[in-house]
Amino acid sequence: MERFHPWVFSGAIDRIEGPVEEGDLVSVEKSSGKVIGFGHCAIGSIAVRVFSFGEELPGDSYWTDQIRKAYQLRKTAGLTDATDTNVYRLIHGEGDGLPGLIADYYNGTVVLQSHSVGMWLVREAIVEALKEVLGDKLVAVFDKSSKTLPFKANITAVDGYLFGQSSAGVVTEYGNHFKVDWQEGQKTGFFIDQRENRRLLSQYSLDKAVLNMFCYTGGFSFSALTGGATLVHSVDSSAKAIELTNENVALNFPDDPRHESFVADAFDFMQEIKNKYDVIVLDPPAFAKHRNVLSQALQGYKRLNAKAFQQIKPGGILFTFSCSQVVTRNNFREAVFSAAAIAGREVRILHQLSQPADHPINIFHPEGEYLKGLVLYVE
Ligand code: SAH
Repeated sequence: MERFHPWVFSGAIDRIEGPVEEGDLVSVEKSSGKVIGFGHCAIGSIAVRVFSFGEELPGDSYWTDQIRKAYQLRKTAGLTDATDTNVYRLIHGEGDGLPGLIADYYNGTVVLQSHSVGMWLVREAIVEALKEVLGDKLVAVFDKSSKTLPFKANITAVDGYLFGQSSAGVVTEYGNHFKVDWQEGQKTGFFIDQRENRRLLSQYSLDKAVLNMFCYTGGFSFSALTGGATLVHSVDSSAKAIELTNENVALNFPDDPRHESFVADAFDFMQEIKNKYDVIVLDPPAFAKHRNVLSQALQGYKRLNAKAFQQIKPGGILFTFSCSQVVTRNNFREAVFSAAAIAGREVRILHQLSQPADHPINIFHPEGEYLKGLVLYVE
């Protein structure tokens, strides 16, 4: 029985036939010679990322077919023709059978991010496929792979438009407007993966004082304001992020006295917040990018959450997240539980959150489940 996991580790390879270079299309075969599938090879522990299973070599329409499937999934999820949302992830790597490739749709502009050389080398074909699938819904394609390609690959990728031209735009998520700067912003410009979790926050915000820690472009802050919060504080250590948050607040809630933002380190800011907040959102960057720093990362989540538990108002709500791929759901839960124990607070789980439908998890690739969140009621 095949397990259809898209990664072939270098240690599992018995024999390599012929010269191969990073990014080459290769076939993966059993020792009997039977072809299992085709993928792109890479230097490193993941030696091949398989994108097509079976004995048949992917044909000319392969990328178009795959992207059409990805689009169909978003259509099924109600994202492609929504009236109040025009930003979604169109291609989520392994989750869409296209390992190493990310494509985010920002109201007409697709931002591509290749994490493998193989996908970067076929970018022109990907653009053609996007044009075919999206038709007049596509205005421009921007390639932002210079920082995500493996640095060992020794290629110089320059970010830029592969098709059309557009300028940093305004996108809409559940009626809230966000300025997205794909050229300069983090990741592809916006953290699309928190859409549903942001929406959930608005249901808990009525008449509440909300702290949005690690706010980036202010997403959770708008949900809180939309939901009727009495006060919203947005905090990020990056001055650029706070600038974006302020611009976005001005766009959605001009001169709203309920909102204030702060450039500050999370641990410093949370030193002395006392019981000022009813609702606290903690959405830090990935504390563990590699498995060898896992225990250090778990300590970080524990310390951070303990600070929130120690100070949140009785009856308060904590939205806490981890987006580290190497931190499992259980790892995270245990770190948060230890934090609750340190603070000596009675805590109950109201929701267990994950990534939304446009960040699908390939059932044969459990590593694709990276976003974990808990909504906790703190007595
Ligand atoms: N919640 C955001 C995404 C958060 S991304 C959203 O919904 O869009 C993580 C953010 O944490 C980044 O903007 C980064 O600048 C910020 N950050 C990283 N380290 C920090 C620290 N020590 N203190 C405060 N903010 C930090």
